[in-house]
Amino acid sequence: MNDCIFCKIIAGEIPSAKVYEDDEIVIFKDISPVAKIHLLCVPKEHFAYLSEMNAARADLLGRTLEKIGKMKDRLGLSEGYRLVINQGENAGQTVHHLHIHILGGEPLPWGK
Ligand code: AMP
Ligand code: ZN
Repeated sequence: MNDCIFCKIIAGEIPSAKVYEDDEIVIFKDISPVAKIHLLCVPKEHFAYLSEMNAARADLLGRTLEKIGKMKDRLGLSEGYRLVINQGENAGQTVHHLHIHILGGEPLPWGK
C-alpha cells in the first residue's frame, strides 16, 4: 500500500522505534503514547479491518497474540497490559493498517 504509513515503517522507508521484528509482525513504540508503555504490534501484511479476515489472517493474529503473551516480561509488561484494536470511525481509527495497541507500564483506567 503506497500511502500507508505502517507499510512504510515496515519497509524501513520511515523511521520507528522498533522493539521486535520477525517475518510476519513488527512491534514499535507509538509516536504519541497514551500510557507509560504504548507499543503498536503490526502484521506485515496490509489489511485494515477484522472484516477482511480469512483463515490465514486468523492464524496470523492467533500467533501474534501468542507472541505478545510470551514476550510480556521483556516488553516491560509483567504487571499487566491491555490490547486494543480500533476499527473504523467511531473507534477513532486513524491508520488503516490493522494494528494492536499494547498499553501498560502503569495501572490503566478503564473507560470508553
Ligand atoms: P489508531 O487510532 O488505532 O489507528 O492508531 C494509530 C496510532 O498510530 C496512533 O496511536 C498514532 O499515535 C500512531 N502513529 C501514527 N504514526 C506513527 C508513527 N510514524 N510512528 C509510530 N506511531 C505512529
Ligand atoms: Zn499498510
